Amino acid sequence: MLDNRTFMVAGCSVALVFLLAMLVITLTTRRYRGLGWWTTGNGFFTVGFLTLTLPLTPPWHWSLLVANVCSVAGVIVWNFGVRRFLDQGLPLWAAAASLALTVGVIHYFSAWSYNITIRIVFVSLTYSAWVLDLAGALGRARNGANSLSRRIFFATALVIAGFFVFRAAATIFQPPVQNLFQPNWLVSLSMAMLMLAVVAFNICFLALMAVRHEGDLQTKILELNQEIELRHALEERLAREATLDPLTGLANRRKLEELAAKSLAVARRHGRPLALLMMDIDHFKQINDQRGHQAGDAALTALAEICQRQLREEDTLARFGGDEFVALLPHTDLDQALETAERLRSEVESFGRPEGGPLPGLTISLGVSVFQPGDSNFAALLARADAALYQAKAQGRNRVCQALVGETGDLVLHCSKPIAAPA
Ligand code: GH3
Ligand code: MG
Repeated sequence: MLDNRTFMVAGCSVALVFLLAMLVITLTTRRYRGLGWWTTGNGFFTVGFLTLTLPLTPPWHWSLLVANVCSVAGVIVWNFGVRRFLDQGLPLWAAAASLALTVGVIHYFSAWSYNITIRIVFVSLTYSAWVLDLAGALGRARNGANSLSRRIFFATALVIAGFFVFRAAATIFQPPVQNLFQPNWLVSLSMAMLMLAVVAFNICFLALMAVRHEGDLQTKILELNQEIELRHALEERLAREATLDPLTGLANRRKLEELAAKSLAVARRHGRPLALLMMDIDHFKQINDQRGHQAGDAALTALAEICQRQLREEDTLARFGGDEFVALLPHTDLDQALETAERLRSEVESFGRPEGGPLPGLTISLGVSVFQPGDSNFAALLARADAALYQAKAQGRNRVCQALVGETGDLVLHCSKPIAAPA
């Protein structure tokens, strides 16, 4: 059977190993609340066990005093460590009173009136009380301490506290031992339990820390993911806003030019037709002047809706600026483009027809151009549509004109309605 001193040396070694491990954790990873207290507890147990093993030579009771006070202090600061970890208050006055009482009782019953039974009963019950309080702190904990590791810690604390109550009771009914090195099953069992307590409590505390570390990491990952999502949403919104006209919700000039460049590349590579309609509200200034800016805005929005309804999904309608709109029509030849332009013109005219309606007399003029082999870029197409629009305005408005590069390279303009007689 192992003798008591072996248990004490083993207990000292175990406490020392955990003390060093905790010191390494403290120095190399982030500090958890309570870790400092817990590490100090391991320090007390190392010194406590070491002092217990010292030979009892005069003045021998000092080693008894140091050993007992250290182990009581060890349990108290473990208790503090757990309470701190769980963000609970520290019972400082109770700790001070308990330590002072321990010093008094151990000193008195070793130096003045030697009584090992009273000493053992007192220290065992003091251990029990502090371990029970530690269990209580774990039982009350709600703040992020994982319930499984907390429950295991709680159960371990109850078992250890229970054992020391049993030790106190058994000591009373045992024939008295004269010192701790005398072979005695209860003393051996107590030393073994104390050593086990050091191992089990340290593992439980490490488990609590590991679980919280994992939880912290997951929270961080979650926060990061949320931030990334937020950023994505923001970037998308900014990208959308940068390409949309805020009043009508149509593509803006920048977006149109981007899409047009792509359509032009397709038209050139695959020889597919591509048409462009440029439209402008007739006498829009009058709407603004006579009915106000808000009515002008309403006219712009209404026009956007009317035109959008007449176009295909693959077409792009953009607000080019002011009261000017451009429709980009992929896979559309001149005849189809003229037909679409005429349809838009007549739809707007019908919308503006009823006198006294929301926008009486609203009409638009349109300029049409199509991709021609000599077109090196979108600006060429745009310039012809603009010229055709100018022609439509010049010829009396509310009409569709087209502009083509003729065989001789000249611009050929043609309008759907005869030239209006000068006013
Ligand atoms: P025309 O038939 O020759 O086109 O005559 P017009 O009066 O329509 O002349 P123009 O196209 O040059 O006028 C554009 C007007 O559009 C000038 C400006 O005050 C107005 N405008 C530009 N942007 C907005 C806007 O966002 N809201 C409103 N209400 N008016 C705008
Ligand atoms: Mg106009």
